[in-house]
Amino acid sequence: MEIKNISKAENIYKKFIFLLLLMFGLIVISIICLIIIANVQNEYLFGTIFVIMITMLFGIGILLLGIIFNVMLLRHDYPVPKISRGLLRLSLKVAYPGLLFLNKLLGYDKDFIRKIFIELNNKSIFIDKYSIEGNDILILIPHCIQKTFCPHRITTNIGNCKRCGKCKIGDLIKLKEEFGVNVRVATGGTLAQKIVKDLKPKAVIGIACERDLISGLNDIGDLPAIAITNIRPEGPCVNTSVDIDEVRTAIKHFLYEE
Ligand code: SF4
Repeated sequence: MEIKNISKAENIYKKFIFLLLLMFGLIVISIICLIIIANVQNEYLFGTIFVIMITMLFGIGILLLGIIFNVMLLRHDYPVPKISRGLLRLSLKVAYPGLLFLNKLLGYDKDFIRKIFIELNNKSIFIDKYSIEGNDILILIPHCIQKTFCPHRITTNIGNCKRCGKCKIGDLIKLKEEFGVNVRVATGGTLAQKIVKDLKPKAVIGIACERDLISGLNDIGDLPAIAITNIRPEGPCVNTSVDIDEVRTAIKHFLYEE
């Protein structure tokens, strides 16, 4: 699942900038640590900071390894080790706030960083093979996919949808029936986490805007998750949509050994 709505050249350029920012962020963290440690007089404090520093350097080494794997993912569909996904998630947690800050300083759209993270995450999932039962797959959808004029309450039970065809809820129910997957509406990150905790799925397919997808990937730990960006013809959070073929591809990837 490539980044949508941007040209190939722009795509490559933005990925390059992204990687530079990521590395710059890690270098800044290292320099700050070095400055702190160089200015500490107290021996006990020096020892403590030294241990923290070594731990951080070890962490940075792992993150750099993650970056190398992710560069491989960005360039080609190499058989990148499974550990790549774990490292990507780790780099997401550690470097993401700094990346957003640098991104803002440079005046780039926040979603560009998010889109790349999402693409990397999805690629790392698509290079793995899965054979998961349908009822162990959870599809989390945002409430804004439902038309605002629809009177049927689908937040607690998606089965209340009358399948009028005016939004994609009906199509998602068809996928649920075809593959036996779970489909739940999550009205926020906390509810999404609760649903995951209750259902204990073996794989998750999340549909949302870039910001919520990143937040969800951050919360989900090691669980394999494919993130699908929603379509927003009327702007954010209202009457959104999703490419059902993308959802179908994601389900099939988790279901079958190919
Ligand atoms: S498909 Fe129709 S009935 Fe179902 S949620 Fe969408 S608008 Fe409502």
